Amino acid sequence: MKALTKKDRSPNIAPTNSDGSEIMAEEQIVSRKIVIHYTADNVDQPIICQLVKTHDLVFNILKARIFPKREGIIVLELSGNQRNFDNGIRFLKDKGLKVEPLSKSVNQNSDKCVHCGACTAFCPTDALSFEPGTRKVVFDPEKCNGCELCVSACPVRAMEVNIF
Ligand code: SF4
Ligand code: SF4
Repeated sequence: MKALTKKDRSPNIAPTNSDGSEIMAEEQIVSRKIVIHYTADNVDQPIICQLVKTHDLVFNILKARIFPKREGIIVLELSGNQRNFDNGIRFLKDKGLKVEPLSKSVNQNSDKCVHCGACTAFCPTDALSFEPGTRKVVFDPEKCNGCELCVSACPVRAMEVNIF
């Protein structure tokens, strides 16, 4: 029997359709979380409705802060094939909207923190540590990797996650 070569054992398998044909990169399904920033001028327009209808995309609203005649934000999970997704993002930008990938940031709410130190035991990057002298727990966002271990560790919910 012929021995398996390294290539045989770990082939570079491309995604395929049900008939075995290769899926082109632009037809692959993607799902991404994005933040859409509205201006006071476009906040009243049915842009999301047009987006999903004309580009065959599916959306799930994760968060929205929208008010008439004011700047607003919507956080969406947008899914569809790569080509439609790219065209959809272009459509949003052509409509004057700013579109960014969703990013999260972790903050320490200093009004709530009681400096118990529980979070310092969980933080893997030393972003939370006792300040020498004051014995207060201080947060260094530069060191934070966003793991959120501190969020559930904090008994008073002083560690907060912002998604905008
Ligand atoms: S999110 Fe993770 S890295 Fe950032 S402060 Fe909390 S525990 Fe530390
Ligand atoms: S666990 Fe919460 S209350 Fe305690 S030091 Fe950390 S952030 Fe402050």
